[in-house]
Amino acid sequence: MGRAYVYVILGGGVSAGYAALEFTRRGVSDGELCIISEEPVAPYERPALSKGFLLPEAPARLPSFHTCVGANDEKLTPKWYKEHGIELVLGTRVKSVDVRRKTLLSSTGETISYKFLIIATGARALKLEEFGVEGSDAENVCYLRDLADANRLATVIQSSSNGNAVVIGGGYIGMECAASLVINKINVTMVFPEAHCMARLFTPKIANLYEEYYRAKGVKFVKGTVLTSFEFDSNRKVTAVNLKDGSHLPADLVVVGIGIRPNTSLFEGQLTIEKGGIKVNSKMQSSDSSVYAIGDVATFPVKLFGEMRRLEHVDSARKSARHAVSVIMEPAKTGEFDYLPFFYSRVFAFSWQFYGDPAGEVVHFGDYEDGKQFGAYWVKKGHLVGSFLEGGTKEEYEIISKATQLKPAVTDLEELEREGLKFAQTV
Ligand code: FAD
Ligand code: NDP
Repeated sequence: MGRAYVYVILGGGVSAGYAALEFTRRGVSDGELCIISEEPVAPYERPALSKGFLLPEAPARLPSFHTCVGANDEKLTPKWYKEHGIELVLGTRVKSVDVRRKTLLSSTGETISYKFLIIATGARALKLEEFGVEGSDAENVCYLRDLADANRLATVIQSSSNGNAVVIGGGYIGMECAASLVINKINVTMVFPEAHCMARLFTPKIANLYEEYYRAKGVKFVKGTVLTSFEFDSNRKVTAVNLKDGSHLPADLVVVGIGIRPNTSLFEGQLTIEKGGIKVNSKMQSSDSSVYAIGDVATFPVKLFGEMRRLEHVDSARKSARHAVSVIMEPAKTGEFDYLPFFYSRVFAFSWQFYGDPAGEVVHFGDYEDGKQFGAYWVKKGHLVGSFLEGGTKEEYEIISKATQLKPAVTDLEELEREGLKFAQTV
């Protein structure tokens, strides 16, 4: 016994929400579409979890950040799905998929069949245990991927006021959570293996500016080392962390953000996997023509760079979702997915955007002294391939986005540095 749908979206995160909206815009009929998700709530804007959700005053709570409010679109509450005849199967893990038979098996033992499947399973947080450190199960060791994690982190933050937090990892989660912890009056030490924060994107000069600001807010940095063990009290609550460089840091709270792994395991041996994700073509179609993949789990061709990429950011989740639905519903009218990678973050009063690829030579511009507006360009093989801007206006961000998309020729790096933002304005 089982249920049958024309379209099934596996996973109920950001990309699932945006796909659902696109389906309704293109005219899905009642009962044709089902979203099945392990999470107990309807799709929401995950970025809120490390920002508004952790504020001490008037924190963001559902239903305020259901998709698709993040793109200034409709807010898809559970009622919206009902009104649009979309079956939302929540709190239900899919434990196996048979791509050949076009069926899913849920943890409740139900078989769901589809004509088209969209894989939107996202990713899971990497655990310290995968690096040989035990203790992730302690109540005050917090990861941050879903709403349950965020609720737990918010509770531990409340009971740690004026205490000490150790943040493991200097990436997005580390930087955004450290800022939120400071706002919650918690003393923060950040620990990461690289020489500076956000090492895969920031240059040392960009990183230094943010790190100086964090230091002024009381954040300490311990770089070039990793966690080796936790110390626990008799209730198995962590009381301190030990680092490889021999240091020992007291801790009332530990936040871990050491990267993610895409949730591909249901499809290994059934679909082609590349760069850790499900390989799709420019129609977001996998090696099985009835199966599409979107969001963090998809490795797709980035036309602009002539390379396969897997991105872990909300803009690509939203846009790849819309594209896949467009291909499924109106194949003749839909071209190739031509995507310009876009990343952003907001911490304290800072707000930056990045477009393109952080590859090649870097040219910095703007005012790195007062730190209000500054940026960088990346130039590879004589062409602009990446642009970063802190403190821009909406129009300025649009300008750097458009310029990067055009990949203009750059002959003189010194001239580019002198021109700064003006270069993008004149492309
Ligand atoms: P997800 O949103 O992770 O959704 C995956 C869904 O699939 C989940 O609901 C999961 O439970 C479900 N699932 C997985 N396996 C199964 C299964 N077997 N059965 C049933 N359901 C399953 N990006 C930015 O660009 N800017 C930001 O500011 C930003 N902030 C972020 C803050 C946080 C705290 C986090 C965690 C991420 C942030 N991101 C940000 C990244 C962004 O949220 C992701 O790129 C985006 O959520 C990816 O969407 P997705 O639909 O691919 O996956
Ligand atoms: P990131 O990949 O951004 O950063 C992980 C960081 O942890 C890196 O600095 C990494 O170093 C470091 N690290 C790896 N192993 C260890 C270790 N054993 N000990 C200490 N540090 C370690 O992942 P996050 O966990 O920060 O973020 C998770 C996901 O959430 C990502 O997909 C991210 O894109 C997304 N996110 C995005 C946001 C945004 O776009 N604004 C905000 C919040 C989350 P190394 O580089 O050497 O591996």
